Amino acid sequence: MKRILIVEDNTNNRQLIALVLEFHGYETIQAMNGQQAILAAKSRHPDLILMDISMPVLNGLDATRKIKQDSTVAHIPVVAMSVYDTEQDRQAVQDAGCLELLVKPIDISKLKSCIETTIAQYGKPAALNAPQSIQPQQLPNR
Ligand code: MN
Repeated sequence: MKRILIVEDNTNNRQLIALVLEFHGYETIQAMNGQQAILAAKSRHPDLILMDISMPVLNGLDATRKIKQDSTVAHIPVVAMSVYDTEQDRQAVQDAGCLELLVKPIDISKLKSCIETTIAQYGKPAALNAPQSIQPQQLPNR
């Protein structure tokens, strides 16, 4: 069973995403800010991290940067979630090390397909042979 770490400060959003993913057969872990996300990533080794960008304590961009700088968790694919999706926002998300950006309000079928394709492309088997951090220039453009 694939394990997804859901990082989102809005409790309703976080629990709704968890319910949907659990319904689709994923195991979920929840974190309320970037600091909790880093701890959860290091202790629970999720297959993918869904990372809200606007959060108190430590925002999603800073949390993703820290995760990508830590060789024990840098291989875990991170997908950002944000209401902001200008070219500049997308660039910032990509520069931080996120592979994709899901625009809020989250479309459930997009969420599901994004998780599936990201795990298939960047999940554990490939990551074992891959460099420990993914360089920004290797990230897909979209
Ligand atoms: Mn938020």
